[in-house]
Amino acid sequence: MPNCPVAFGTGKPSEARRLDALLDYDILDTAVDARFERVVALACELWDVPMAAISLVDDERQWFKSRIGLEASETPRAWAFCDRTIRGDAVLVVEDARDDERFASSPLVTAAPRLRFYAGAPLTAPDGERLGALCLMDRRPRSFPVAQRAQLARLAETVVDLMGAHRTQRLLERKERLLALAELSQMEQIRYGRIFEASLNEIYLFDAASLRLVAANRGARENLGYREAELRAMTPLDLMPEVAREHFERLLEPLRSGRRERVAFEREQRRKDGSRYPAEVALELDGHGERPLFVAVVQDLTEKRAYQRELARALALVQSILDACQDAIETFTPLFGAEGEIVDFRCLQANAAARRLHGLGAGQPAGQTLLGLWPAWRDSELLELFRGVVARREPLTTELRYVDARRDGWYRVSAAATGDGDLTLEIIDVSERKLRERALQRSNEALDQFAAGIAHDLQTPIGQIAGFAVLLERHLGETVPPKAREALGYIAQAADNMSRLVGSLLDYARLGTLTVDPEPVELREVVEQCLAELADELALAEVRVGALPQVPGNATLLRQVFQNLVGNALKYRSERPLRLSIGAERQGATLRIAVEDNGIGIAPRHAERIFEVFRRLHADGSPYPGLGMGLALTKTIVEAHGGRIWLDTEPRPEGGSRFLLELPLSAAGRAPASHRRRDTAA
Ligand code: ADP
Repeated sequence: MPNCPVAFGTGKPSEARRLDALLDYDILDTAVDARFERVVALACELWDVPMAAISLVDDERQWFKSRIGLEASETPRAWAFCDRTIRGDAVLVVEDARDDERFASSPLVTAAPRLRFYAGAPLTAPDGERLGALCLMDRRPRSFPVAQRAQLARLAETVVDLMGAHRTQRLLERKERLLALAELSQMEQIRYGRIFEASLNEIYLFDAASLRLVAANRGARENLGYREAELRAMTPLDLMPEVAREHFERLLEPLRSGRRERVAFEREQRRKDGSRYPAEVALELDGHGERPLFVAVVQDLTEKRAYQRELARALALVQSILDACQDAIETFTPLFGAEGEIVDFRCLQANAAARRLHGLGAGQPAGQTLLGLWPAWRDSELLELFRGVVARREPLTTELRYVDARRDGWYRVSAAATGDGDLTLEIIDVSERKLRERALQRSNEALDQFAAGIAHDLQTPIGQIAGFAVLLERHLGETVPPKAREALGYIAQAADNMSRLVGSLLDYARLGTLTVDPEPVELREVVEQCLAELADELALAEVRVGALPQVPGNATLLRQVFQNLVGNALKYRSERPLRLSIGAERQGATLRIAVEDNGIGIAPRHAERIFEVFRRLHADGSPYPGLGMGLALTKTIVEAHGGRIWLDTEPRPEGGSRFLLELPLSAAGRAPASHRRRDTAA
């Protein structure tokens, strides 16, 4: 084994065969194998040596398949005693290396492990190639009789047998692996091949070194218009006219160096017919195969771009519609706090009106928060309502006054949740309308006061006219000519009419600022009283009154309501005997009262206007006298009680009219007690 000072043998054809034979055993650098360990241990025991080894002589080194007493697992071939052993068939014995001129100056003899004795039997393969040696070593000189040499040679044959067994085993293992690999790659080939060919994207494979196209799938061939053979003569640069080679190399560099697994970019691709199309190119390097390839997946962006243009157009259209709208429209997305609660909203879009409202330029509100735009809404009830709108998807409309450092006005705010859980606000500045309403209210009040004043002032002179007419008649006595008497009667009658008109006007004016302090009122008693007052006129009528409960209100005013309604039923009766019915039913917190008759009825188209003051459906000379104030007063009183009144316009087979009233059943359910009439005047 070690230290052969004479270099020889390497590079010769026979040496090449020997090395092939050794490699064929597939044993170099393999793991420890107990079978070989046992042989070396047996050799040490049999010949009582401290060192033994199975040395395999490789191209430039000897490698120990098994060793005892030696530290290194391999040494340079130039040092190997065994290299000399394999030059012959016989066992090489060096009884004392110091006396052997071939080895005396060897460092292994002059220095550690200070070898003196060496005996090595060549490991000869069945085809005659000598692969290495089974060797015994000692630090003292020894003799090695011929008989022992033969034994060592036989043990070396056993080692070669073991090496054969090792080779067979390795061969089997490799075959199994190859078989598995072959199956796998076959399956993968089928799978990937199908995907490759059928993919809607264009897929190209091109050689990593030459950049020449190796394959292109159907999508690529069809879009480009090239045949496979034509493509094979091209590189991707032929398809991307605007990309220079160095630029392309720069794009490939991160893949080649392994810095990145994927590179994507957008470029125009050119078809065979010269037409071009925008494309997104994604590149990857497949360095696993025998031949490194780049895989390029190319997506034709023509449709995507068209879709994007379409989308941009649609969005611009929507934006222009929104901008044309005079109302401010803004969309917000919720911002959540640590607990998952909505703390604010971020503005996604705002139309031109909204930007004007906030005094911002184009595109500015996007990104701002709701509370940034409407700071006074912080800690407001409205913010809570907006949270509810988003959470429950229930729209909301409210009118409110908004005051902050920059603004003071009235706004009508409509909030709705979008499908994505965002919040859209439509905000209308109603400050002007509010101002007008207030002005109207003030002028109504002044008008009411004026009417009350006039009515009051007129009452006395009218009374005096009537009084003086009576006095005059009385003073003149029988001397009054019949014509003058008649005229005096007319004066008294006219004064009486005017007095009633002025009285009603005064009532109406007073009711304009009516305040109801509700007390329990037995409706049944109110209705009965009213019917009793009109008993004579109702003598021939059929009157039905249902159960009527107690309601909160003012008994005098409520009596006036029924006096008007029953009075009208009497006044507007038809040829038929009057049938009057008053009934009520509870509907939750309200009481719905129906007053119906079988009179001349009211056409549905007049349903609203009959409640207007001084509005009559009959001419002055008609058989139905009146001032046109009864229903207006009735409506005012009902509304002052927090209720409402309307004409039922459902067709009724029996004809006549049916008035419906709703009154709250408890004072808590009432609208504000103070009633201010708005615009009942026609
Ligand atoms: P007036 O009875 O003094 O004309 P109202 O305000 O009480 O004023 O009624 C307004 C109008 O409504 C009446 O002119 C009449 O045409 C119509 N109207 C009211 N009640 C009835 C009724 N029960 N049947 C038919 N018409 C009615």
